[in-house]
Amino acid sequence: ILQGKRAVVTGSNSGIGLGIAEELAKAGAEVIINSFTDRPEDHALAADLAARHGVAVRYIAADMSDGAACRALIEQAGGCDILVNNAGIQHVAPIDEFPVDAWNRIIAINLNSAFHTTAAALPGMRAKGWGRIVNVASAHGLTASPFKSAYVAAKHGVVGLSKTTALETAGQGITCNAVCPGYVLTPLVEAQIPDQMKVHNMDRETVIREVMLQRQPSRQFATTEQMGGTVVFLCSPHADQITGTAISVDGGWTAL
Ligand code: NAD
Repeated sequence: ILQGKRAVVTGSNSGIGLGIAEELAKAGAEVIINSFTDRPEDHALAADLAARHGVAVRYIAADMSDGAACRALIEQAGGCDILVNNAGIQHVAPIDEFPVDAWNRIIAINLNSAFHTTAAALPGMRAKGWGRIVNVASAHGLTASPFKSAYVAAKHGVVGLSKTTALETAGQGITCNAVCPGYVLTPLVEAQIPDQMKVHNMDRETVIREVMLQRQPSRQFATTEQMGGTVVFLCSPHADQITGTAISVDGGWTAL
């Protein structure tokens, strides 16, 4: 359903971004994957996606903490019909001990990058009269947890930016929405399981259910495929009138 559309997915050489890139490629879109590194394995990921789905896939290195690099990514891609702002990092510390550098990097990568890429992508979308912007926020774009001040502030900001973008593009064939994942089993989360098992002296299944998924009523991880499927849905004609909203994919977390 996405043949002839070009998609840029920021922060997509692993985890949710890669899952989204996969589903977009499966749906026939040309895809640009991105991270800040420029290693042979990054380009190999693009070649693998292209071969498996028979679509054009390029890897473009760009550091999403740098506003000029965010805008250059869109330019190097040749513009895009679908923009998925997914790059994100986390740091956990009490506010009064939160390193200023970590605060600034989280706001830059998780929030400011979406402003820059959106600003760069909109003129091309307006010229074509079609565009889809999907911002990957989080359950933490709608609720808070202690010790995640920068992340929660950035993700609430992403939800607000999505609403404003929706209002500025309404009626122009362009939609903008936020997707709010709960806990998703990405390599990042997988890597935390052995530590949590040690700290809590629990087996894998118990630590996942009782500790990691304590706030997710389904007690099941969301998957990167489900994130990709939600993005593809938002890019489909069924979602033409869905704009300015935040879609939770969180096993009921934010219903609590
Ligand atoms: P991840 O670490 O696997 O992916 C993050 C991606 O961003 C990677 O591809 C990484 O290379 C890239 N990235 C980091 N810094 C970058 C930079 N400066 N420039 C360009 N790219 C950069 O983590 P993930 O779990 O897949 O997270 C993806 C998004 O989903 C993030 O925005 C995160 O906040 C959000 N999210 C994740 C979860 C979860 O449970 N995993 C839950 C809610 C929201």
